[in-house]
Amino acid sequence: MFRRAGLLLSAVLLCSLAPAWAEEHWVDIRSPHFSVLTDGGEDRGREVALQFELMRSVFSQLFLRDHVNQSIPLQIIAFKNAEQISHFAPQFRGQPLTVAGFFQQGQDKNYIVLNLDANNSWPTVFHEYAHLLLHSNVGGLPPWFDEGFAEYFSTIKIGTKEAVLGGIPEYALSVLGQEKLMPVSELFTVGQSSPIYNDDRNHRTLFYAQSWLVVNYLFSNARLKDAIAYFKLLGEHVPMNDAIQRAFHTDSATFDKTIADFYRSTGGRTITVTLPMGLEKISFAGISVSQVGALAILADLHLHEPDYQQQAVKEFKAVLKLDSENVIAHRGLGYGFLRSGEFDEAMAHFQRAAEKDARDPMVHYYWAVLMAQKQQPSLWPQMEREARLVTQLSPEMADGFALLGFALMSERQTDDAAKAYENALRLSPGNEGYAATLGDLYISQGRTENAKLIFVSLQNSDRLLISALARNRLEEMEADRAIARASAASNQSPRLASARGRLVHVDCTNSPRVTLTILTTTGTLQLVLPDVAKAVKITLSCGSQSQNVAVKYLDSDESRLAELVSLEIE
Ligand SMILES: [Zn+2]
Repeated sequence: MFRRAGLLLSAVLLCSLAPAWAEEHWVDIRSPHFSVLTDGGEDRGREVALQFELMRSVFSQLFLRDHVNQSIPLQIIAFKNAEQISHFAPQFRGQPLTVAGFFQQGQDKNYIVLNLDANNSWPTVFHEYAHLLLHSNVGGLPPWFDEGFAEYFSTIKIGTKEAVLGGIPEYALSVLGQEKLMPVSELFTVGQSSPIYNDDRNHRTLFYAQSWLVVNYLFSNARLKDAIAYFKLLGEHVPMNDAIQRAFHTDSATFDKTIADFYRSTGGRTITVTLPMGLEKISFAGISVSQVGALAILADLHLHEPDYQQQAVKEFKAVLKLDSENVIAHRGLGYGFLRSGEFDEAMAHFQRAAEKDARDPMVHYYWAVLMAQKQQPSLWPQMEREARLVTQLSPEMADGFALLGFALMSERQTDDAAKAYENALRLSPGNEGYAATLGDLYISQGRTENAKLIFVSLQNSDRLLISALARNRLEEMEADRAIARASAASNQSPRLASARGRLVHVDCTNSPRVTLTILTTTGTLQLVLPDVAKAVKITLSCGSQSQNVAVKYLDSDESRLAELVSLEIE
């Protein structure tokens, strides 16, 4: 009786607290690598999960990778129709945009959000998913390849036995039909901060269309390995035109012509990738999600979207009224407080979440982030413990290893910190922040050659802070080497040498230190007398002169002037 009354109360509360879009039947589909929350039914949820499993498999075949990393946790949410997705779509002037799907990026979590009514037509989402795959697995790629591959992947068509790649994006057809191609040498030097890349991010420019075309050419002609050789040469600081010649076996002008001819004659080709047998039989688990559970997961999506953060806090509070122990709501509210710097409130919510589910990696992740931000030495051991738990519970999460590295670095455990950052960089090869920190750790370990490799690769970064730091470190390492050379030389005992010649100048501007310039048959010799007043046997007049002399001096290394011992006027 009491229980029934309780249920009834919950139902009434839910109606008053939960928005209409949460009142659907929600199911969480789990495949080996993805989790799809959907209100569109289990079958559609499975289709979406399978589609992403297959895309992942196609990527591993294209890049010949046995293992595909996913360095930031990914949640897929598939809404059944446009009305449902509109409550989450990015806004313009306070109104939700009409979207078939969108991608929400975060340091802690990424979201792919789809409208199932759009019938597998999610080029924007596939474009962003391709970026995720590239950044977690390849890294260090120039924008033309990054965007070109994302565009190439965005039109993927997946069948039951094979996937077809290379279809031309609609806008690219008109752009490439109307505009003159830019030289490859120009396309290849477009950087993250180039105006051509930032002018128009709507994927409808010549930059995107031509990047797609070059990537299409590379895959259609099995020349990905040449592109990878080219990136490697650039990493070794081979000038671009030489690198093009060596990697693509052609000069850039001929390469321009090849690309133009390829487009004229083919319009871009498609390639077919056979899907591995058995993938269609992978197991899926379908777990029914309560409305409160769905509300919490969807509030977490809102929390990660700039347009909906206030709303997310209200939704989490509504969830807690219905289920005071809800882990996602406590975790989310904690993260909200953490972002606004209210550490005590954040900590209280993380504690409640961890008491309920000690194996939720995100709770430990946020907890470690909080401790990293507080910067109190007394918290370092706990930061290390929390970060270590993240690496155990979510071993592909690159930032978990970076936090562990940060904790160990704070505790001055340099060797273990370097190992943690090496892991972070393995999971997220393009992350320049991890690379720079690892470079610094190598310097403190005395591994200057390893550090040099890292900072050389970062010195031309598009991120000004990173490139400035890298150049600074390279200069510091060079200065340290010069000092080491000088000190090694100064440890060798100076050699007594002698010479004859014509004394032409005595510089007394830094008296009592004087510098003598003597012309000898082999060149100009400069000798220094540290304190002329103490040199009782030598009487010198300052300024220009001309007299033949014989000198004895202590021959030192090139970094210092040799010191005069005796001088006889002849
Ligand atoms: Zn992109």
